[in-house]
Amino acid sequence: MACCKKIFILIEIWNKNGQPSIMTPILSTIMEPDAFKVYIDRLHSGKTQRVEALFSPGFLDVNEESLRFEKPIRVHGEAYIAEEDLVLHFSVTAEALMPCSICNEMTPIEISLPSFYEAVPLDEIKGAIYDFRECLREEILLQIPHTAECHGGSCPKRKEMAPYLKAEAAEENDGYQPFADL
Ligand SMILES: [Zn+2]
Repeated sequence: MACCKKIFILIEIWNKNGQPSIMTPILSTIMEPDAFKVYIDRLHSGKTQRVEALFSPGFLDVNEESLRFEKPIRVHGEAYIAEEDLVLHFSVTAEALMPCSICNEMTPIEISLPSFYEAVPLDEIKGAIYDFRECLREEILLQIPHTAECHGGSCPKRKEMAPYLKAEAAEENDGYQPFADL
């Protein structure tokens, strides 16, 4: 849970120094750790908590050569109680950077979850606060495609690479199949 540790360190810095002076209004939204939290007590009697936030991509804890997130992750939606569950209903947009599978240039890939629902049984939530960071992280990571291609799938190098791509595709068909046994 390295990502959570980072966020707790951030809270400590805030407490000692107050609000850092470099904060602009948008950054304070990004770095507000409480923005991941849903307070169950406030949702009884049919109330809804609105979530409207830009999160720094640090909570995704992803920083690989072939996968990076640099832009803030936008989340908006609501949390409410439906019978015995806490329901999160969010719309999420993020941008991943991945190398184009043809020319290898880092390419922005839009990740969009227009309607993400998650129902969490209330009796599984300890301490009346639900932190949706981990669940949001998993949902975003699940949306990442296996491969990316620049220019929306029309990499300018596609033509010159065409003969090699064909050979590779043929090889892939009987090659590594990670989900073949599932
Ligand atoms: Zn390309």
